[in-house]
Amino acid sequence: MTDISSILQGGYQHPVSRAWQSKRQLTKSMLMYPIFISDDPDAEEVMTTLPGQRRWGVNKLENFIGPLVKKGLASVILFGVPMKVQKDPRGTLADDPEGPVILAVKKLRELFPSLFIACDVCLCEYTSHGHCGILHDDGTINTPPSVARIAEVAVNYAKAGAHCVAPSDMMDGRIKAIKQGLIDAGLGNKCTLMSYSAKFASSLYGPFRDAVLSAPSFGDRKCYQLPPTAKGLARRAIQRDTAEGADIIMVKPALPYLDIISDAAQVAADHPIACYQVSGEFAMVHAGARAGVYDLRTMAFETVESMIRAGATIILTYFTPDFLDWLDQ
Ligand SMILES: [Zn+2]
Repeated sequence: MTDISSILQGGYQHPVSRAWQSKRQLTKSMLMYPIFISDDPDAEEVMTTLPGQRRWGVNKLENFIGPLVKKGLASVILFGVPMKVQKDPRGTLADDPEGPVILAVKKLRELFPSLFIACDVCLCEYTSHGHCGILHDDGTINTPPSVARIAEVAVNYAKAGAHCVAPSDMMDGRIKAIKQGLIDAGLGNKCTLMSYSAKFASSLYGPFRDAVLSAPSFGDRKCYQLPPTAKGLARRAIQRDTAEGADIIMVKPALPYLDIISDAAQVAADHPIACYQVSGEFAMVHAGARAGVYDLRTMAFETVESMIRAGATIILTYFTPDFLDWLDQ
């Protein structure tokens, strides 16, 4: 005789009762779509390393984003891609009023009033050396001017109309500086601060760096991004950023760091938890599907649902347009 408590299958024998086994289900409003904005206003450039993704010019945003908003797209995060401009050591053009990010924020606000618009904030796309901060002569990070510059850029994105600024630079103390900057500019109650709190020095950023042309010209980012093994540091970074005024905590990358997402959900239990399914993760899911390892859609759902299971409530993913279709089917 089987013991009564041994029988679990009765609870998930139907697709509906299987869905009930998740604490939270993926919804369209959880998705934030990363978009690359070129400084060529008419750009529509295919990127071979990120299947289906393009660098978009400001003039192309209406036709690109319009159909997605109709399908239920709730939020985007913008990354500027300066293709033509002169870069310098302090990333002067990061907040150029005529630069791609600020022009795109204004355009999207005007075109799609309900869309939540976040801006990634970093200097690496705009610095001549490709690092995320301002450097000493010996090539190491000079923290105070880096933090001041990052905060200045964030405030200028908020002034342009961004609903959210999201610093990805990993400089110590930048959350506090940005929050204070927003408050001083009268925007403390008008702009959400999403911190890339636990951002690891990962091998999975390759396609992104090709997309935004931000590979460092020397060295690497291991002195500011977290070591992949650093669970304790990640927890400390999350605690620090909540204390410094972050409204949302992010973990990046996502799939190899599900334990960190779970830690974030516990350490910052009263904050929304975001995770970024980064370019290399997206490319891996596609590559595996192309190689016949699994079905693309099934695997895309499995990856994102595992992030939600771990504790994420916001998912940054290049699969967003696909999910908007898949969730309707
Ligand atoms: Zn950067």
